Amino acid sequence: MNIILLGPPGAGKGTQAQRLVERHGMRQLSTGDMLRAAVKAGTPTGLEAKAVMERGELVSDALVSALIGDELDAMGEQTGAIFDGYPRTAAQAETLDGILNARGRKLDHVIELSVDEEALVERITGRFTCASCGKGYHDTFEQPKVPGTCDKCGGTEFKRRPDDNAETVRTRLAEYRAKTAPILPIYEARGIVSKVDGMSPMDEVTAAIETILKA
Ligand code: AMP
Repeated sequence: MNIILLGPPGAGKGTQAQRLVERHGMRQLSTGDMLRAAVKAGTPTGLEAKAVMERGELVSDALVSALIGDELDAMGEQTGAIFDGYPRTAAQAETLDGILNARGRKLDHVIELSVDEEALVERITGRFTCASCGKGYHDTFEQPKVPGTCDKCGGTEFKRRPDDNAETVRTRLAEYRAKTAPILPIYEARGIVSKVDGMSPMDEVTAAIETILKA
C-alpha cells in the first residue's frame, strides 16, 4: 500500500507516519528528513537546500523528486510507502505519478490531516526531539516523564529544528496554502482523499487512519 499524508507543517504527519511504520512495517519517506540528513552530511543536495529550508521556502521539485525515486529504489518492492511532506506542489504530484508507475506502484490513499492554523504556530515552536532516538516531545503538551531524560531510550540530549521558529513557520504555512493545498483537488478527482481531524488527540487520529486503511 502506498499513501500520502498531506497537511500543513505541525499537522502530525511525522508522528502518524512513525506509528504506521511501527504497526505495519511500512516505510516513511519524509523529504524533510532526507534534506535535513543531507544538510548535516554536507552533500551537494544539502548545500543547495540549507538556506532555502532556513527561510521556510520550498526546495526545487527536481531535487526532492530525485530523493524520493532513490529511496523507493532502495526499499523492497513489497514494502508500503508513506509519503510525508511530499508531494508539496502540483509538479511534484505529477512527477510522483510517473515515479510510482515506473515501479509498478499505485497510490491507494491520500490522507488529509486538517488543522486549525492558529494552533500550528504553538505546536511547532514548542516541539523538540530526542537526539538519540528521535522521539518527539513538546514544551507544553508532552514533556519527558523524567525531566531531561527520554522516555523511550533514556537519552539526555534533545534537539530542535532550526526552522521551527515563529517567523519561519509563518512562511512555511504560507507556502503550504499557496502551493501544497492546491494539489488536493487532483487527488479528490480520483476519489482517494480521506480527511482526518488533525486537532483530535493523537491516538484518535491514529485510529481514524487505521479505519481508512482497512476500508
Ligand atoms: P518538513 O520537514 O516536511 O517540514 O520540511 C522541512 C523543509 O524542507 C521545508 O520547509 C522545505 O524547505 C523543505 N522540503 C521538504 N519537503 C519538501 C518538498 N517535498 N518540496 C520542497 N521542499 C521541501
